[in-house]
Amino acid sequence: MTVPIELDDPSTARIVPISVNYFPHRKCNYGCGFCFHTAKTSHIEPLDNAKRGLRMLAEAGMKKLNISGGEPFLEAAFLGEIIKFSKVKLGLESTGVICNGSLVTEKWLDKYGQYLDILGVSCDSFDIETNFKIGRSQNGKGVHTKKVFQVANWCQDRGIMFKLNSVIGQYNWEEDMNYGIDEIAPFRWKVRHLKSVIHRIAKGSQTHPRCSKFSCSMAKTLDRRPSAMHERW
Ligand code: SF4
Repeated sequence: MTVPIELDDPSTARIVPISVNYFPHRKCNYGCGFCFHTAKTSHIEPLDNAKRGLRMLAEAGMKKLNISGGEPFLEAAFLGEIIKFSKVKLGLESTGVICNGSLVTEKWLDKYGQYLDILGVSCDSFDIETNFKIGRSQNGKGVHTKKVFQVANWCQDRGIMFKLNSVIGQYNWEEDMNYGIDEIAPFRWKVRHLKSVIHRIAKGSQTHPRCSKFSCSMAKTLDRRPSAMHERW
């Protein structure tokens, strides 16, 4: 959640948690070098507790819920039930999931896609070797790019808005991703420079020690690839 609140604390009672980010756990099947979601525990809150917390947030004014991780699809059943509960029982205006795409299945989308408004997938490159360098792969398999396109198609078929998140750093700052973006046609392409991510999370002191080596100069990036560094809605 963007603004921390104590629902029972009178001094923060006026804060309305309209948009909530929920991280059910921090496990992941990928190993991105810049990742700051280092899994220190495999704990995940029981489903009933999670629903109770979300109901409290809805009563406090929550309208939008975004779930990420870690990789949220490692707990696919939990994720689906939370999304369904948020839409059907809480009546939220918007439900979203941010994931790495690798564990999304058509079976899951057929069951829970009707309750999902936005699916975001992290993809920093359409090049297999670059994805290996960044760490966006599991067990040495270079299938990330293929899966991103596949998930985008599945979402299109089901009327789910598809979003792409890209982090720009040392290994991909020269790549022009426009050809792939044109094909995927996400409703939004969120591009972040790794250095700004590092600054943003540094205060929480969760920065992975390897993180900074993946960074590069933002000014250089913008000078060289202006067409690839934009957001589209
Ligand atoms: S896919 Fe996301 S959560 Fe997983 S290692 Fe990469 S940045 Fe971290």
